[in-house]
Amino acid sequence: MMKKTPKLARPTLRANALLLLVVGFMVVALNTRFWGIVFDSSGLEGLRGVGVIASIGAALFGLTLLMLLPLSLRWTFKPGLALALILAAGAAYFIGDFGAVIDRHALASVYETDAREAGEWINLRMLLSIGALGILPAALLWWVKIDWQGPVREVLSRLKLAVVAFVLLGVAAAGFGKDIASLLRNHMELRHIANPFALLAANLSYLDHARNDNRPLEKIGEDARRGTALPTNERPVVVVLAIGESARASSYSSNGYDRATDPKMRALGVLNFSNATSCGTNTATSLPCMFTDMGRRDYKDGVAKYRENLLDVLMRGGYDAVWLDNNTGSKKLAKRAKEVFLSNTEDPELCNAEGCFDEVLLAQLRKELPAVQRDTVFVIHLLGSHGPAYYARYPKEFAKFVPECRTNELQQCSDQQLRNTYDNTILYTDHILASAAELLRDDPRIDPALLYVSDHGESLGEHGLYLHGAPYAIAPDQQTRVPMMLWAADRFSARRGLNLDCLRNRADAPLSHDNFFHSVLGLADVATGVRKPALDLFAACDGAVEAPVR
Ligand SMILES: [Zn+2]
Repeated sequence: MMKKTPKLARPTLRANALLLLVVGFMVVALNTRFWGIVFDSSGLEGLRGVGVIASIGAALFGLTLLMLLPLSLRWTFKPGLALALILAAGAAYFIGDFGAVIDRHALASVYETDAREAGEWINLRMLLSIGALGILPAALLWWVKIDWQGPVREVLSRLKLAVVAFVLLGVAAAGFGKDIASLLRNHMELRHIANPFALLAANLSYLDHARNDNRPLEKIGEDARRGTALPTNERPVVVVLAIGESARASSYSSNGYDRATDPKMRALGVLNFSNATSCGTNTATSLPCMFTDMGRRDYKDGVAKYRENLLDVLMRGGYDAVWLDNNTGSKKLAKRAKEVFLSNTEDPELCNAEGCFDEVLLAQLRKELPAVQRDTVFVIHLLGSHGPAYYARYPKEFAKFVPECRTNELQQCSDQQLRNTYDNTILYTDHILASAAELLRDDPRIDPALLYVSDHGESLGEHGLYLHGAPYAIAPDQQTRVPMMLWAADRFSARRGLNLDCLRNRADAPLSHDNFFHSVLGLADVATGVRKPALDLFAACDGAVEAPVR
């Protein structure tokens, strides 16, 4: 007896055909920003333009095919390709919606994140996007029946595809290699957004940097000791280094912004360094870079990781070092110091599902200060203006600039709403910094100073970019120019002999994170061979004492 049920028949395809369909889908549907940049680039007109674009398509197709070939044997075919589709759809979402690039640093941010920070990214648009471009095609892939041939024939037909891939790459290079190279030079981001090629390249690069974790620690500044400008006495010196997060210089009224975003620090008479640039465009680069003596040009995270940092030198110079963190941690910089994690604090007033307000840092500092007996450096690692959930960074009484953007789907908000919300985070940071300064000032037992600098800036839609992490060479000013301010209690300035007039006269000179290591040692008066006076912004003014009155 035959029974016919009306059922959508599962299509049957050879493995090669299905693989080519997956590759074609990735090249076309998961590279919209890549193609947008290619089509918009100048000099690609006429027949030649068609040739260049076709060559780029062939090259991307060939590369993607080569990447997926190792996954395409019988037992790995469906799970491997399905996973590749979903991961690539995730990458496409960040590339397309945020103007993100997929490089080693971006992956470091993803792999070294915590559940709360990760949760902040998830929104309906992201789920829909990954669902439509990743999960749905993966399900279709699973649904198709594969007409498997014998193992030898399958391997041979995969090898044929490898030959096809190399031919495509060869033809593209021979025909329009020069045009493609110049396009890549003019649009450096292309190599970091070619999906999923960039995803593989970034993972390999990340793994390359993450291996050999057993290298011995390289010591620096072993000669560190206290200098004569700030000798120890019975009154502890307390230096607070406030670092982070995603605050850009141009959003500070101290730097000419037309909104009062930092009224409290201004009222305290801080010294504003108006021309400071960052080492990197993301936390994973900037934070360790600031704490090394290597400088931006020579900075390598693979080397810095196995090398002592500013905190080690400060400790050797007689300071206790305490790292208070409301961000994603010190990236092991405080490994040999004391580190207090506050981002998981359970305080219904200060914390919610999206994390804790930076007030938790103040609360902890308030607890730590009475116990200070020795000279101490506190690092307070702010959550500051960490996006995309800017609205979650400040309590509602700091929503001075309205209307806000109360979603992490930045595309749903107007540029004005986005800017308002971001400005509120700066206003709140101003409150935190000024409150910390007042807390220090009002503890008569100590001689305190506070140095604030952000790890990198932030894009708020300028040039179509959001957030941060652009490759440094092409990063816009919004991502590389950072606020930097010094507050010092009068009794600190007097004891350290700070020549504030001289410093104020130099406050608009170009500075960068390269100055941080040396200037903190200068401020704290730790003498060591690794401190370069030329990079210590205090050294230039140390000799410049006013002539004595006769
Ligand atoms: Zn950061």
